[in-house]
Amino acid sequence: MTDSLPLCPECASEHAYELGTLLVCPMCGHEWAPVADADGEDADDPVIRDAVGNPLADGDTVTVIKDLKIKGSSTVIKVGTKVRGIRLVQGVGDHDIDCKVDGVGPTQLKSSVVKKV
Ligand SMILES: [Zn+2]
Repeated sequence: MTDSLPLCPECASEHAYELGTLLVCPMCGHEWAPVADADGEDADDPVIRDAVGNPLADGDTVTVIKDLKIKGSSTVIKVGTKVRGIRLVQGVGDHDIDCKVDGVGPTQLKSSVVKKV
């Protein structure tokens, strides 16, 4: 059915229909491009990449490519540490990976210091 199509932004008609990649309103003739939000192709959501440019996804396993000192503690995440089941987040600053590191616990990493396994 077509009940998932949006209302016309011009006249709020609910009779808009798809014409190729556009939506067309038969009531006022307005044509517009639908906003991609249901299929995960949202252009506002930048791809997070690891240090060598591989796109990362939730659940990926990565290794740390350099020693990382944890802020506010003496703990260091050693180079080569394997981190399983990462979660991509909009963290503080450049921190865009939420994860749990063995021996360290929950922390956040920058995608620029990890490499996808
Ligand atoms: Zn319209």
